[in-house]
Parts: sequence; structure tokens; C-alpha cells
Amino acid sequence: MDKEKTIKHFKTNPSHLTLHPTRKDNKMTDKQYKGYKIEGVGKGKADYYVYTDLCKGCGLCIAKCPMNKAGKKCLQWSKEVGLYQTPAVAPDPEICIACGACAMTCPDSAIRIERRQ
Ligand code: SF4
Ligand code: SF4
Repeated sequence: MDKEKTIKHFKTNPSHLTLHPTRKDNKMTDKQYKGYKIEGVGKGKADYYVYTDLCKGCGLCIAKCPMNKAGKKCLQWSKEVGLYQTPAVAPDPEICIACGACAMTCPDSAIRIERRQ
């Protein structure tokens, strides 16, 4: 699948944003953040949000993804740009298992995975 075609852009006040445990900036939720959403990852289990205003392009999430470690091309650099005009990331929705390892790894709270009911 061409995952770039599955990307939907948004700008939002993420009152629902999951702050990384190490992040102490509680004022984050007062601001608006740009990003994009990839719907139906993990066989439709979840929606995947990337906040490009927060992603610094460090690649830690890509290194942590268990599907990448298993040799698949799951979480990769995308054509979208992040905070420093470096590439942001996007998962292949058909390979991603919505495990959340990437979101938990990101030191900048740039990824959120929202489970569907
Ligand atoms: S949710 Fe899991 S499988 Fe999906 S991109 Fe993140 S680390 Fe990889
Ligand atoms: S989403 Fe987070 S961990 Fe992944 S490249 Fe961006 S800043 Fe780094």
C-alpha cells in the first residue's frame, strides 16, 4: 500500500495528547499542533497520529518498532516534515500491529495511538 495516500492532515488542540512520562511541559495542551493521522492501523484496531510540530526526526521510534526488527518495513520515514524540516515518520497500516512501542519511546510525545472501541 502507498502509505502516503492514507495520511490525513489535521491541526488540533490535543487535550487528549498523551504526554511522555519524561516530559514535564504541561503547557503543551494549551497549544495547537499540526500533524497527520493514519486510520485503521493494526487491522483496524487503532488510529495513528503523528504531531509534526513535535517530531524532531531522531529515529528512536523506527529503531524500536518490533515489526521493523522482524525485518518488515513498518515504521519508516515519510514525505512529511517535522519540527526541524527533517522527515517525520509513518507506519504501514497493513504491517503495524498498534503495539504502542513507538509512542512510548518517543521522547517528544510526537506519536499517539488511539484504540478504537
Ligand atoms: S505501533 Fe508498534 S508496530 Fe506500529 S509502528 Fe509503532 S512500534 Fe511499530
Ligand atoms: S516521532 Fe518521536 S521518536 Fe520518532 S523520529 Fe519523531 S521525535 Fe523521534
